[in-house]
Amino acid sequence: VSSLYKLEVRMSPETVELGLLVVGSGPAGLAAAEAYRERGGTGAVQVVTDDPHAPYARPPLSKDFLRGEADEASLLLREHSSYRDQEIEVVQGCAVEDLDPIRRRAVLQDGRRVNYRACVLATGSRPRSIEVEGGDHPAVRYLRSLHDARILRATAAGASRAVVVGSGFIGCEAAASLARRGLEVSVVAGERLPLQSRLGDAASGRIAGWLMGEGVRLVLDVEVTGIEHAETVHVRDRGSIQADLVLVAVGAVPEVGLARRAGLRLDRGRVRVDAGMHTAAPGLYAAGDVALADNAAAGRPLVVEHWGEGERMGQIAGANAAGADERWDNVPGFWSTIGDHTLKYAAWGDGFDRAELEDRGAGFVVRYWREGGLVGVLTHEADDAYKAAPDDIVAGAGWPH
Ligand SMILES: Cc1cc2nc3c(=O)[nH]c(=O)nc-3n(C[C@H](O)[C@H](O)[C@H](O)COP(=O)(O)OP(=O)(O)OC[C@H]3O[C@@H](n4cnc5c(N)ncnc54)[C@H](O)[C@@H]3O)c2cc1C
Repeated sequence: VSSLYKLEVRMSPETVELGLLVVGSGPAGLAAAEAYRERGGTGAVQVVTDDPHAPYARPPLSKDFLRGEADEASLLLREHSSYRDQEIEVVQGCAVEDLDPIRRRAVLQDGRRVNYRACVLATGSRPRSIEVEGGDHPAVRYLRSLHDARILRATAAGASRAVVVGSGFIGCEAAASLARRGLEVSVVAGERLPLQSRLGDAASGRIAGWLMGEGVRLVLDVEVTGIEHAETVHVRDRGSIQADLVLVAVGAVPEVGLARRAGLRLDRGRVRVDAGMHTAAPGLYAAGDVALADNAAAGRPLVVEHWGEGERMGQIAGANAAGADERWDNVPGFWSTIGDHTLKYAAWGDGFDRAELEDRGAGFVVRYWREGGLVGVLTHEADDAYKAAPDDIVAGAGWPH
């Protein structure tokens, strides 16, 4: 009888009726669920995530957590009771496999079917893989999730030499953290200076100085041609570097598989939404790294991959799903900490043609311009300039505000 019963359950999986389905438990997904509740959104709310862990902070994974100075409990974004109090259910370790935007239905990995009134897609990004021979070796490390970070930290504990491939924010942060742990670290990258393509020469020269101050060796303006057995990094015309830990940090790719299967409009590899995070399908929103949203103040869509902006976009999506009429109109902001140095950056983030450095001794400010308008401000130990930046950027751009 019991086996027949199981068969019957499998043949007619449970169907759940939801007021709001959120796909993904990063800052965008969690903020969407909470904003929906704050705005009086009704019905059941589920945050369904393929991550096996309760919602946690990613920024420390390349910083204090990797250095061994933060434990897992400190990463948790909320106490468990907070979900119960807000009547938000987090379904962990379960992917949303399919979405039917017309019928407002989804199918979960465990076979359950969901009917929703509103849905927020907040599937984030995954690390970009390196397209060289040996780049897909299982012992080559990438860093996105708590699972990745645990393995990276455990590997670092038994390693003495590390190569970090890539000199973006995560590469620079991780390199500094690994050096603090006492590893001999080399950063190998195609840029002339760390973060040069993103932040320009003046700022990246400072960042190079910080990394060298941590004892990190910089092997720049080079091309990695292969990674052998996850321990020998071959560099064109520069021989090879031996390591017992290789971390690849060459950027992130938006996680659009579900959106693509659902037939949603993609633009620049992301789900296209308006400033209210609406897709073209009624009741369906996208927010965070996976979305390409219009920014009402910029007057154009902006790509952002920042924690705080993911939260903001999620709040807008969740509030609008509950009937509000919010739109994204702030200048995106971002913080990064490399060793003991914190950078704060407020910018549209889509390019500049001139950068000016203001040296303040212990700190600095870089102002970025495009066609005569201020488009970004990067600060180190200059909070007054960071605080003033959003107003200056909106005013400098001459857009209505
Ligand atoms: C190591 C590291 C350090 C960082 N440091 C900083 C920093 O200092 N400052 C900063 O501003 N930003 C930082 N970032 C970037 C920031 O973390 C991201 O911009 C932010 O997490 C994006 O939020 P999100 O909610 O859009 O997506 P994510 O946080 O990526 O969350 C996406 C969620 O969707 C889930 N998911 C994906 N597909 C499915 C599916 N089909 N079904 C169910 N669930 C699914 C994933 O498991 C995940 O839970 C850092 C990122 C990393 C990896």
